[in-house]
Formats: sequence, structure tokens, C-alpha cells
Amino acid sequence: MTNFDYDLFVIGAGSGGLAASKQAAAFGAKVAIAEGDLVGGTCVIRGCVPKKLMVYASHFLHLSQEAAGYGWDIPEGEFNWDKLRDAIQAEVSRLNKLHISFLEKTNVELISGFAKFVDAHTVAVGDRLFTAERILIAVGGEASKPNLAGLEYAITSKEMFLLPKFPQRFAVVGGGYIGTEFAGIMRGLGADVTQIIRDRHILRGFDEDVRTNVQAGMINHGINFYTCIDSDSFTITKHDHALAVNFNDANGNKQTLEFDAVLAATGRKPNLAPLSLERAGIEVVNNAIAVTEDSCTNQPHIYAIGDCTDRVNLTPVAIAEGRAFADTIYGHTPRLISHTNIPSAVFSQPEAASVGLSEAKARALYGDRVKVYKTKFRPMYYAIAGGEAKTMMKLIVIGDEERVLGLHMVGKDAAEIIQGMSLVVTMGGCKKDLDNTMAMHPTAAEEFVTM
Ligand code: NDP
Repeated sequence: MTNFDYDLFVIGAGSGGLAASKQAAAFGAKVAIAEGDLVGGTCVIRGCVPKKLMVYASHFLHLSQEAAGYGWDIPEGEFNWDKLRDAIQAEVSRLNKLHISFLEKTNVELISGFAKFVDAHTVAVGDRLFTAERILIAVGGEASKPNLAGLEYAITSKEMFLLPKFPQRFAVVGGGYIGTEFAGIMRGLGADVTQIIRDRHILRGFDEDVRTNVQAGMINHGINFYTCIDSDSFTITKHDHALAVNFNDANGNKQTLEFDAVLAATGRKPNLAPLSLERAGIEVVNNAIAVTEDSCTNQPHIYAIGDCTDRVNLTPVAIAEGRAFADTIYGHTPRLISHTNIPSAVFSQPEAASVGLSEAKARALYGDRVKVYKTKFRPMYYAIAGGEAKTMMKLIVIGDEERVLGLHMVGKDAAEIIQGMSLVVTMGGCKKDLDNTMAMHPTAAEEFVTM
């Protein structure tokens, strides 16, 4: 027995905090979780979940056009933004309530309000003070905007889900996951979309073939690109009925374009400001909470997981870190999670997914010992549906045994396929293991075992 109010106080009821709190409580710990916003966090409330629903919504226009090739005469319907937005918010609200009921069922006490440190064992939520033997910080991140003139007029991904009116002329600044996904969504929903990036290609960090193939597919879907822009010249000015975006393009020519809305998808940063971390003496490095492999901060009883530690900022990683923490501390089964070979998907149009090393990283590490298998083809679906969509698959192997270092795909169902295929990389499998796997025909995924 301790003299603290709780064994564990979790700050932030997003994916990581929820997973950790429920697991710790299941092991018998007395747990409270504080949340200042809706329970569910970025992923459920204003991230992965509503985004994926918007991705689904954005497919129907294409499907109805492609249906003609298959003999269906489907009239081009009208898109109703208000209806989609409200339906998504209703689902978000259902999930929010579901997560609250999960907390109740597992005896985790929910404390509504933003928590901040008072000292290393005490947090304040409003004017209430709570003490805990251990504290877990799982506050996630928030959109960050560079200091460019007029960028305050741009919205972030957070506002995308609540737009009062559908922006017919839509610009995206940034070429990361968020910008690329929303460019595809808005184009699919019928907007005129322009994506403005400072590099030559979107999705920096992904394999070059992924970057170029996704971008080519997006251009094919009618998205306008401005690449290699001079980002220092970028400004937004507000006019009566439009936002004017001004920048110098790749040729140094001054561009002024008008939009109904501009999305700044220029990165995210840990959400640390409200926490008063200094009062608990918690070390912050590069604006993120510094943690060891087991998610412990420099204070041995304070842990941090998820985006606020800026390791690999993905929902499943935060959940895995949270569960490993609870298993280690309260389940007495110490374990670490691996932060390598984490598969990730971009729900762009075309979709992309990767696991393991890109070709460039593999060659930088292992030079000539790296071999690449690659294929690009038109999926059977489009043979009748028409269109130029292509699927690209790439396998990166090393040495005589051809151990698989990386798998990359652009095209229909890439995320579903790479999720399954990622097992090969995790298990240290070789190309011969793929060769020995019988193909399922006709599928796109069979190309990975017949290359
Ligand atoms: P990213 O860091 O992925 O991309 C930021 C983009 O903004 C880059 O293209 C970058 O350009 C550009 N940028 C940054 N600063 C400037 C500037 N001053 N001027 C012009 N461009 C600039 O951030 P996102 O916001 O897209 O995503 C944030 C996080 O959310 C990611 O870490 C990701 O893990 C997560 N996420 C994951 C998803 C998934 O798994 N499907 C979906 C959505 C989000 P450059 O490339 O030139 O540096």
C-alpha cells in the first residue's frame, strides 16, 4: 500500500494512454486518466479514424465512373459535404462514448480536464490535486506551422473534419502523410486540389519509387502540383472571398493562386506546453520528452509514450509502448518493443505502404550486397474499368541468402497487403521463403511471391 491517491496517473486519453491505463488496471493497479478533450485522442477524434472514413467517401466518384466499363450505368450523383461531415462526427461521438465505457468497465477513473505537474508525484486538474506513485505522460502531439506570413489563415488537419462549407478550390501546403492523404480525399470528393511542396517529390523518407509513383498517380487523378517552391517566399493573404497563396515556383516565377481553403500539413510537434514538465524535473530534448527504451523519463517513476516522445509517431506504436509499460511495471513481465521495421501506410490515392528499409537506406548501409526486385503493372480491375492506374511493388534483399530488408507497394490495397507481408521482414525471411509460398491467383499480392 502507498500513501498516494493512485498507483498510476495517466495524462492523456488517446490511443497510448487508454491502452496503458486499461492494461495496468487489469493487473490490479488503481488507475486514473486525465483528458482535457474528448476521450479517444487524435487517432479516434481528429486523425486516423475520421480520415479513413473520408478516404472511403472519396472513392465513390471514381467507382461510379469505373462502373461504366463493367456495364453499369450509374449517374454521377451529388456530393453532400454536410451529410458526410455529420455522419463522421456521429461515428466519432459513438467511439468516444465506447472508449469511456471501456474505462468504466476496467475501473479506470476518468478525470476531465487538462492535467499539469505540481511536483514529481502531484498533478493538478483545474483546482483539484492528485498524487500518484507513478505517472505516465501520453499527451500526443499537435499540428505545427512554420513561421510564414499569413499561415494563420491556413487550417490544420484538426479543422478539416469540421469545415462548415466544402472548399471547392483547395490547397495543401506540405508533402507528408497528412497533406498527401487530404489532397487525395478532397480531389476524390470533387474539389480542385493543388499541392505545394518544397521538395521535388512528396513523402520524404519513403523509398524513391514510392514517392514518384504516388505523385504520378495523384497527378493522374487531376491534382495540381507545385514542387521545389521557394518556401521562404511563401505567404498567404486574405481577400474577401478567397485566400491568395503567393510563392516563387521552381523556375523563380512569382505565383499567386486563389483558394477557398488552405491546409497547412507541415508537420506535428509534441503537445508539451500545458504540462509544466519543469516542476517535475522532466528532461525534454528537441521539444520531445526524453525517454529510455522502456519509455522511462529521467525521473524513474515517470514514463512517457506515443507522439510526445517523438519516436515513431504512429497509433499502433503508442499502443504497443503503453502495453509494454503496463506489462513491465504491473504485470511483472518486463518487455521492450522494437522500433525498427514498423510498417506504415499512406492512405493517398494511389495508396502506399512500406515496411523495412528503402532502397537508398539499404544501399547506404550495405552497398553492393543489396539487390532489388521490382514490378509495375496495370491491375486486372482497370483492364475493363479503364484508366492509367498502375501498381508498383518492390522487394529489397541482401546477400546470397537474399534476406528481405524492405517491401514497398503503391496501388490498390497496398496497406492491407503490406500489413500481411511485413511478417517476412519481422521474421528475417528470405526471398526463397516468398518463392516457396504458393501464389493466390488472381490477386495483386501474388506478385510478391512470384517476382
Ligand atoms: P510530415 O512531417 O510527414 O510532413 C511535413 C511536410 O511539411 C513535409 O512535406 C515538409 O517538407 C513540409 N514542410 C515542413 N516545414 C515546411 C516549410 N517551412 N515550408 C514548406 N513545407 C514545409 O508531417 P505531417 O503533418 O504530414 O504528419 C505528421 C505525422 O502524423 C507524421 O509523423 C505521421 O507519422 C503521422 N501520420 C500518420 C498517418 C498514417 O500513418 N497514415 C496519417 C497522418 C499522419 P519536406 O518534405 O521538404 O521536409
